[in-house]
Amino acid sequence: MRIFVLLKSTFDTEERVQAVDGKVVYDEGKMIMNPYDEYAIEEALIQKGKHGGEVTVVTVGQEGCKTQLRTALAMGADHAVLIRAEEIVEVDAHSTATLLAAYLADKKADLIIGGNMTVDQGTGQVGPRLAEQLGLHQATAIIALTIDKGMVTVVRDVEGDEVTLVSELPILVTAQQGLNEPKYPTLPGIMKAKKKVIEEVTLDDLSLDVEVVEARTKTHLQYTLTPRGKGKVLEGKTEDQVRQLVKWIGNMVKQV
Ligand SMILES: Cc1cc2nc3c(=O)[nH]c(=O)nc-3n(C[C@H](O)[C@H](O)[C@H](O)COP(=O)(O)OP(=O)(O)OC[C@H]3O[C@@H](n4cnc5c(N)ncnc54)[C@H](O)[C@@H]3O)c2cc1C
Repeated sequence: MRIFVLLKSTFDTEERVQAVDGKVVYDEGKMIMNPYDEYAIEEALIQKGKHGGEVTVVTVGQEGCKTQLRTALAMGADHAVLIRAEEIVEVDAHSTATLLAAYLADKKADLIIGGNMTVDQGTGQVGPRLAEQLGLHQATAIIALTIDKGMVTVVRDVEGDEVTLVSELPILVTAQQGLNEPKYPTLPGIMKAKKKVIEEVTLDDLSLDVEVVEARTKTHLQYTLTPRGKGKVLEGKTEDQVRQLVKWIGNMVKQV
């Protein structure tokens, strides 16, 4: 089976995230693999173990994303690909899906696995947009996947409920928490990954024009939330508390 995993580097949500001049500042030293993509890689390795084949991990990003690609290789992926397109100034889910679609168009993938969403921009659009562009079946937020004789059965998590879908291969699925238990890379895996070559692909290699890839959406402002102030406890008789509350709400409405 030809299995491809979509991987995104994101900032580490355990770290302090900063926004300057309306944009989140990405510190490449503190990037991690998007947590949902760990489930995607693990599932790819599980399916490879059952059905054979190769696992290729693909990311659209910058030089720094190679660190997360190496982690994927250390987990057991066979190949890693970095799609770079520094020419593109404004990027969004459309840009990423278009680059991935151009790369995957002739790869004859049997199974493409992405994460359900990212922990930074979190649109959850890259997987579905990519499936549309490639004309593939798709199932999002899966928590189980079984392949038998070219047919795939997935269980989707739908806000706590479950829906089972059956489809032919090829298919694109996105991984939800609970799909599996991702394993840490082993020491031999890490050593092996260091020697592997990461393939680099450019806009020219994909024969894509900048205008086709440019973002279709515009982000006007990104900001971090200011810590909440202490709550105020109303005191006195109930009628007085209600009067105070109505007054405050009235003042707040006037300010807006
Ligand atoms: C030229 C270019 C350069 C970029 N450089 C960076 C960068 O340096 N750092 C960075 O964090 N982002 C980078 N991006 C990514 C881009 O910002 C996001 O992919 C896009 O905005 C959608 O993000 P999302 O978080 O909403 O994805 P979602 O739709 O929420 O992601 C869902 C899933 O889609 C897949 N996916 C999402 N983004 C990517 C990706 N970039 N590559 C492969 N699979 C992906 C993953 O499996 C992910 O779990 C770049 C994109 C382009 C086109």
